[in-house]
Amino acid sequence: MAGTVFILGAGASRSAGAPLITNFLDSAFDLCERVGLGEGEKRDFELVRVGLNALQLAQSKARLDITNLETVFDAFEMAALVGRLGDLESEQVARLPEAMRTLITVTLEQRIRLPGADGGMYPCPVYQSFAEMISQLRHETKLWPGVITFNYDVCLDHAFYCVRVPSTYHLSESDQQDRVNLLKLHGSLNWAHCPECRTVQERSLSDLLARLRLRPGGTTRRLEVAAKTVRSFECRKCGKRDGQLMIVPPTWAKARYQAPLQPVWAAAAAALRGAENIFVCGYSLSETDTFFRYLYAVGSIGAATLRRFWVFNPDRSLEGRFREFLGQQAEGRFQFHGMDFENMVRHVAQEMAGEV
Ligand SMILES: [Zn+2]
Repeated sequence: MAGTVFILGAGASRSAGAPLITNFLDSAFDLCERVGLGEGEKRDFELVRVGLNALQLAQSKARLDITNLETVFDAFEMAALVGRLGDLESEQVARLPEAMRTLITVTLEQRIRLPGADGGMYPCPVYQSFAEMISQLRHETKLWPGVITFNYDVCLDHAFYCVRVPSTYHLSESDQQDRVNLLKLHGSLNWAHCPECRTVQERSLSDLLARLRLRPGGTTRRLEVAAKTVRSFECRKCGKRDGQLMIVPPTWAKARYQAPLQPVWAAAAAALRGAENIFVCGYSLSETDTFFRYLYAVGSIGAATLRRFWVFNPDRSLEGRFREFLGQQAEGRFQFHGMDFENMVRHVAQEMAGEV
């Protein structure tokens, strides 16, 4: 049971180069113009553009924020489920979620740059500080903090690996204990899903890193793992080889994702229930994110232990949204800090050092 839980959103990966949810699509199409994409990737980007236009036309009937990555991903999933979106051919509609996955993966892997030198690759400095803080908290409190993240990228996973913090994704109930739980609620660029037996399996980072061909020279590196995860997939249960990258949109009521991700979500609810401190960073709790709202409500029922619910975000306009979300629970526990991830790490480390 974790005494301290960190909840990380897209803002946490910003310093590594990842776009925020609200400028993700612009960033993706801008990238498409500037870097040489493969034929398949170009086709997928184009299909997302066609899908977006169809959504735009539908705006008179339903108000969707189509500049928001998660809203669009959700809408495409729904379109594929019902087999319809504007004038698109049915094969196009069916391919929309997959095209969206390509766009997300390519954009994250192209935009995120890690420091490199002497033919090596080093963790993103902010995530490295965060990983070291986690290790320090474990040392001082004898408890591993838990991390719940909405991010698909593997920057934190990589930092844990480099700093030698043992972590587990908790993809099965039997996952090892005495590790930091890295709970990726929306999946990860190194997870694949077997369509046959509906399980999610991770590719270990050490394995993927060993296959990464780093060019000598250069001061930045790209952490490209998604294609290798899918290409080398072989289901440990049924042996099937064509796995799908496991990154899912935020909507929660999706039967196709419930079973495979259930252990992760259950672990997140348990972590919230046992939390004494919850530190939220770079996560905006958008109005449409019903999944987290329900998870928190269910997870925190009966929680008498909560002392701090602190939110860190440079966007101060979010304070009211969190205060309203917490309601009476905010009383004496809630604090809002207009800080980015880097300053949050420093601030929390100081605060917690005073605890012991
Ligand atoms: Zn299988």
